[in-house]
Amino acid sequence: MNVKEILDLIPGGVDKKDEELITKAYKLAESAHDGQKRFSGEPYFIHVFETAKTLAKLGMDAQTIASGLLHDILEDTDISEEQIAHDFNKDILFLIKGVTKLGTLKYSGYERHVESLRKFFMAMANDLRVVIIKLADRLHNLQTLEHVREEKAKRIALESISVYAPLANRLGMGKLKGDIEDAAFPYAYPKEYKEMEELLKEKQELYQKYLTEVNEKLKKELDKNKIKYIGIDYRVKHKYSLYKKLLKYNMDIEKIYDIVALRVVVPNIEECYRVLGLIHSVWTPLPGRIKDYIAIPKPNGYRSIHTTIFTGSGGVAEIQIRTKEMHNEAAYGIAAHFAYKEPGKKKGHNGELKFKWVEDLKNLNYSPNEPKKFLEHLKTDFFNDRIFVFTPKGDVVDLPEDSSVIDFAYSIHSDIGDHLSGVTINDKMSQIFTKLKNGDVVKIIINKKSNPSTKWLGYVKTALAKKHIKSYLEKHSLLNKLKSFGRS
Ligand code: MN
Repeated sequence: MNVKEILDLIPGGVDKKDEELITKAYKLAESAHDGQKRFSGEPYFIHVFETAKTLAKLGMDAQTIASGLLHDILEDTDISEEQIAHDFNKDILFLIKGVTKLGTLKYSGYERHVESLRKFFMAMANDLRVVIIKLADRLHNLQTLEHVREEKAKRIALESISVYAPLANRLGMGKLKGDIEDAAFPYAYPKEYKEMEELLKEKQELYQKYLTEVNEKLKKELDKNKIKYIGIDYRVKHKYSLYKKLLKYNMDIEKIYDIVALRVVVPNIEECYRVLGLIHSVWTPLPGRIKDYIAIPKPNGYRSIHTTIFTGSGGVAEIQIRTKEMHNEAAYGIAAHFAYKEPGKKKGHNGELKFKWVEDLKNLNYSPNEPKKFLEHLKTDFFNDRIFVFTPKGDVVDLPEDSSVIDFAYSIHSDIGDHLSGVTINDKMSQIFTKLKNGDVVKIIINKKSNPSTKWLGYVKTALAKKHIKSYLEKHSLLNKLKSFGRS
């Protein structure tokens, strides 16, 4: 174990200043945790070391990696906040305190679950890096669950699947999400995990055969057509996400086409479409399985083209086409924006890097005594299936399924919602109560004299719209009372 192992993982390398910072954190953590042991009997330092390694792999900035090394130092050692502020800086102290706070939950069961979510959102709105450190911390805890007693291991695993993994997903960190779920899966659902293992073992050889076939032919065709590509590799679907998909298809593995997928990485977007054209001219695509997430990205920002083809030897295979940039974003999501060195781009830091949906959630101001309501809103506004609709200018607005024009209007601005009077959807005059569909182009008509009515509450899905309508109605009825009072 040495600091070089961490530094070597950082994509693009480090400069002198950052190397010094990480080394200093490494040394302090090593000496402060000296003598402490994990459940496994291993030195405690291994835990913070592994957490920092995950952060380095994600390409996080030096402050985040240093904070990863120091994340348990306030709670578990004699080092004081003053010392951290003095030896390092306020930013690092802020990150460490954020992670420490996230870790302490005073409730149990359902309320604990809600409290942890609420804490996550607060932390996220302040500095996303806190959440990313917490996710890396949780991943290593999951990877060492074998040393934890069964009941507790199950609780941690289930919590990870229901809270941590969806968060990683919402941040677009596909790889981290998959790693968290796969580490938790055997402890959360041991029986199902074993079944999956068996099922996959039977199929492995066959998948390998299809992959090799398609891979070889594709390379030949690309060369023949002089299409430049950066690389072709393949991925096997993460086990837990395969399990969830199998549940939807009655555990019939034959119905799942993307257990293994070939990935073609090309230099630019034009080449993506050229490769798609080539693939469809060589193999027959399965109808309904061509997905252009470049033209219309997923809500978490995922971009790529997917198509599934008949291999010609009785099998099917999914092929994903993307640029290098999309490839990195798909794996690291939001972390890709913190990228250690991104030529020509400004580094993302707290403050600059805020998501509208995080802000929206923060602005809802839940009181701690209504956990059910909070969770319900989270489910619809945050984790549920989303649709994309477009403004006439082509900006994408991301809303929960079954949202109406009113939800759309409020998601743009509260004033637009409050004065919504009409709408055209895909150039057709429509009702403002209409439920929107994926891909709709929505043009709002405003009129200063139009105002929300109680009826609107029955036609909105998002908590944000509800909140604005209610607050408008309350203000308005109060004004009316005051007016009539003045008249009498
Ligand atoms: Mn920890």
